[in-house]
Amino acid sequence: MPDKIRVLLIDDDEDDFIITRDIIDDIPGRNYVLEWAPSFNQAVEVIRERRHNVYLVDFRLGAHDGLELITKAESEGITAPFILLTGQSDRETDERAMRAGAQDYLVKGTFDPYDLERSIRYSIEHAKSLAEIQKLNTELEQRVEARTQELAAANRELEQTNKTLKRAQLEIKKALQKEKELHELKSRFVTIASHEFRTPLSTVLSSASLITKYKSAEEDDKRLKHVNRIKSAVNNLNNILNDFLSISRMEEGKIYNVPTTFDMYTFAADTVDEMQGFLQEGQRIVYQHLGDETNVNLDKQLLKNILINLLSNGSKYSGEGKTIWFTTEVTMCSVRIVVKDEGIGIPEADQVHLFTPFFRAQNVTNIQGTGLGLNIVKKYVEIMDGTLAYQSELGKGTTFTITIPQTA
Ligand code: ADP
Repeated sequence: MPDKIRVLLIDDDEDDFIITRDIIDDIPGRNYVLEWAPSFNQAVEVIRERRHNVYLVDFRLGAHDGLELITKAESEGITAPFILLTGQSDRETDERAMRAGAQDYLVKGTFDPYDLERSIRYSIEHAKSLAEIQKLNTELEQRVEARTQELAAANRELEQTNKTLKRAQLEIKKALQKEKELHELKSRFVTIASHEFRTPLSTVLSSASLITKYKSAEEDDKRLKHVNRIKSAVNNLNNILNDFLSISRMEEGKIYNVPTTFDMYTFAADTVDEMQGFLQEGQRIVYQHLGDETNVNLDKQLLKNILINLLSNGSKYSGEGKTIWFTTEVTMCSVRIVVKDEGIGIPEADQVHLFTPFFRAQNVTNIQGTGLGLNIVKKYVEIMDGTLAYQSELGKGTTFTITIPQTA
């Protein structure tokens, strides 16, 4: 014997209860139990117990109506079906009942046991399917929500990984670039070093073998000439080695700025004197100090190196008989040094690489040099917190201007 179907009739008219009970009793199989709630409030209480499989609810319920009850029950999560009973058969009530959540709609006095049984059966089945759909829906929503959260977490992780990868990529790129620069530097070093060492070394070799041939006292002059050539070649080698050493000490951060107070004019004039032996035939350095102030507070060693580099470049890259203009000036807050020549100039395309170690412009291949001097000058100026500017025109000349700040 299947379970009885429990039906609750909500109707404030006892006659209707009796009529309904009679109809239900006439349903074949007597499988129904009918209970009665005569008012809206009582119905609310009984419905909350959730003991019934189906509710038959009258449209009119005193101050309330059946639709109100259906809406309320729905809001409390009641899933058992409602069948609305009413005296009037109009389409509007039917539609409102359906919208409120009623499963079916029967017009009082027009339905027989067969109609009621069919309506109850269909409503229960329908409500069951609805509940099933709702359950599936809820499960689906939960799964979608869980999946969305998983995806969001995966997305966040991906973004993080992406960022880390990008950072790593950037670091690798930087490392590669550094490696490339180092490699270029090494190969430039090897080229320059072998080239620059070979010339003075072959001078030493040839002069040394010639000296052994000059044995008589009359050949003293010739011997002396070759001894001097050897000395000058060794000097040259020494200078190149000093440049290499300076670069490596700079790379290691071992060059320091140690300012002392001295007279700029005397210092610059002495440097010009030292340069005389290096000048080419007919060349001269015209030195001028602008203004009355000559006292400066600078690192003498760094400054000497800068001046010798700029002045010897001025001489090296100008023809015989050219003048190198050298000016110094001390103002309230800075020292200005200008070295200007009338030499070969620097090709525009080469100017961007000017301060790269071992770089030499295309128009100087037959003039000796290592491509280190300007790099050293620039670094020394930076160590002294100064700035370096230049201006050059091919075939006309080059001007270097250095400005170093002074604290009183
Ligand atoms: P080096 O003179 O030993 O080659 P530097 O670093 O002093 O090295 O100079 C780098 C390059 O800059 C030189 O090879 C030359 O091409 C260019 N240069 C520097 N000074 C001058 C100048 N006064 N006139 C023309 N070119 C210059």
